[in-house]
Amino acid sequence: MSLPADYHMHTPLCNHAVGEPTELAAHAVKIGLTEIGFSDHNPMKRDDFDDWHMKASELDEYVEKVNKARRDHPNLVIKLAMEVDYLPGYEDWIRDLAARHPWDYLIGAVHYVSDSWDLDNPKKLSEWKLRDPMEVWTTYFERLTMAAESGLFEIIAHADLCKKFCFYPKEDCTPLYTRFLEAAKRHDVAMELNTAGLRKDCKEIYPSASIVNLAAKLGVPITFASDAHAPTEVGMNFAEAVELARSAGYTECCRFTQRKRQMVKI
Ligand SMILES: [Zn+2]
Ligand SMILES: [Zn+2]
Repeated sequence: MSLPADYHMHTPLCNHAVGEPTELAAHAVKIGLTEIGFSDHNPMKRDDFDDWHMKASELDEYVEKVNKARRDHPNLVIKLAMEVDYLPGYEDWIRDLAARHPWDYLIGAVHYVSDSWDLDNPKKLSEWKLRDPMEVWTTYFERLTMAAESGLFEIIAHADLCKKFCFYPKEDCTPLYTRFLEAAKRHDVAMELNTAGLRKDCKEIYPSASIVNLAAKLGVPITFASDAHAPTEVGMNFAEAVELARSAGYTECCRFTQRKRQMVKI
């Protein structure tokens, strides 16, 4: 069985990843992948917004690093993309970034549930202890739904990132999932199955099987993502992700070229 494309990986430009794109590509070749896509964290409107996005002045360098990986690995298909933080009010900035390079796809991601709290940031873990998990999850999924409705993205990242540190609500979250997935379906946006969750406290693929099952029922297309922040994480646990997709009923996933989708068998 050949593994699906890994469409989510980072570079040292975001200050919290190691390995140049060409090194990640080499690892992809080594484990038998035929297609990958780089999706480093986008520049924010202000470079001092936080310390884990590339700077606006580094965007060309990022594209050049991806092009170098392409030159070094001519038999590997390498897509040019970004993981773009969605915050309400950032739409014009994101459209501006989208116009700067010939992206193959843009992944919309919600990390921020307010302008100052990125809920997956281990340095801000104490914030979780002050909040009701259901309130946080509700805001998170509302923003994720807005990202799906924005028309700015081909793919939505790690759809239940809010489970990372295991602050689970007692309430049933199915209505939150359903609203998000119906929006994704309506706006023709794919959802990634992201294996990074297996490497975090939650020890589970993003999103959970219940969301993947619901997505399959609604016909939301999928991609696969390691969210690699180091070369050896490329394609990690993909067999498990494919198994999750298949058990939900998926037989295909998406690939993207110049923001156009094509379906391929998994
Ligand atoms: Zn990251
Ligand atoms: Zn992310």
